Amino acid sequence: MLALAFPELDKTATTKAKAVIALETFLAKNSRKLEALRDPQKNYNKVNVAQLSTIAPGIDWQAHFASMHITTDSLNIGQPEFVKAFASAIQTTSIEDWKVYLQWHLISNMAPFLSNDFDQENFNFYAKLINGVKEQRPRWKRVLDAQEGALGDALGQLYVKEYFSDKVRQRYVDLTEKIVETYREHIKNLDWMSDSTKAKAMVKLNTIIKKVGYPDKWKDYSKMNISRTNYAQNILNANEWAHTENINKLGKPVDRTEWDMTPQTYNAYYNPSNNEIVLPAAMFTAPGYNDDELDDALVYGYVGASTIGHELTHGFDDQGRQFDEKGNLNNWWSADDEKKFMERANKLVAQFNAYTVLGNKHPNGQASLGENIADLGGVVIGFDAFTKTKQYKENKMIGGLTPAQRFFLGYAYGWMQVRTNEKLASQLLTDVHAPIFLRVNGPMSNCDAWYKAFNVLKGQTNYRDSIDRVRIW
Ligand SMILES: [Zn+2]
Repeated sequence: MLALAFPELDKTATTKAKAVIALETFLAKNSRKLEALRDPQKNYNKVNVAQLSTIAPGIDWQAHFASMHITTDSLNIGQPEFVKAFASAIQTTSIEDWKVYLQWHLISNMAPFLSNDFDQENFNFYAKLINGVKEQRPRWKRVLDAQEGALGDALGQLYVKEYFSDKVRQRYVDLTEKIVETYREHIKNLDWMSDSTKAKAMVKLNTIIKKVGYPDKWKDYSKMNISRTNYAQNILNANEWAHTENINKLGKPVDRTEWDMTPQTYNAYYNPSNNEIVLPAAMFTAPGYNDDELDDALVYGYVGASTIGHELTHGFDDQGRQFDEKGNLNNWWSADDEKKFMERANKLVAQFNAYTVLGNKHPNGQASLGENIADLGGVVIGFDAFTKTKQYKENKMIGGLTPAQRFFLGYAYGWMQVRTNEKLASQLLTDVHAPIFLRVNGPMSNCDAWYKAFNVLKGQTNYRDSIDRVRIW
């Protein structure tokens, strides 16, 4: 990449690349591990700018913030030991190496939007080598991704007009309410949670903001400078626009109507700081089908369990419980509740640590714990909500399957993806989610209704004795 950007460097490009790697390795070694990022208290380290200058001397922080148009008296530095290590690297690394480090980051970030040689080099490393991708996606798809990143809300307005009518939205607003209602019953019936904590859980659940489909107000891109002449410059302009948009929020009240995902994103999230679940429209669509072709069994599994139920439980797990109903970092559990919860959670850690992936590798049960709890809770709550529907009660077969079987297949349908071995190997190290096949087999093997639906017997794959099944929500 350096040789492409600076042909005059000749052989010294390799030496400079080594300096970049050395610096990256140093910074990585001083960064917290994936599982350590799950503790919100330990990662909340608010300091004022004067304190920052003591923790990390050698950097003119005031000037740095001013250059980014940031006016603030304090900030959350997240990982103080990283900031210290970074400051020490400022002292020990030559200014020439820092320059090449920053140049490389700029080139690497911009590579997909530059000429073909940069784009190909970027593809060869990040896609081919790291993720085992054989062939680059067509250009129009990559450009669509760039539009998505730069002008996602503009694209979103077109998307929902075509794929998410008011009628469809209403179906999923209702589904969300039904899942919340079932979760409420489950919390009330928990045998491990104290009554006082249950009362607080009710307050939090009743306050949760439910965002379904698309935002009430769209981002206004009229000040973004986009031209037909320079693709890379458009991306830089879009980045600058997004930076300004962020900076403009400083010192103002939090806008609780904001979305961090676009409606056309196949994903969803729980945001603890806002006590909200955010469910983009695309999450509710089954490619190639109209919504009215989707039966409740499929829908309850596909989104009710895997998404709505999953995201809801995040507000109440070992991370979510540390935030109150307003989104403030404020633990509302007793020590005894925590102990009983962790006894159950640790069984799930052991279960996932014991799975084998790619012959000799294992998921990180600790790092993926929150997600595995959410998957399990999602399946259990989603199924229970489904048993209240007309389709479940009528128990008619569709395509040779009972409603209960269709529910579980609907859940699995959401995870119908192909991943290369390279992608899987890197995911085991970097993702807080377990590999997708385990996001299906793992929770189902703990769910009594799944055994009943498919008549799964002892000795069969994924069978677990009733006493070994993990039960949390
Ligand atoms: Zn999750």
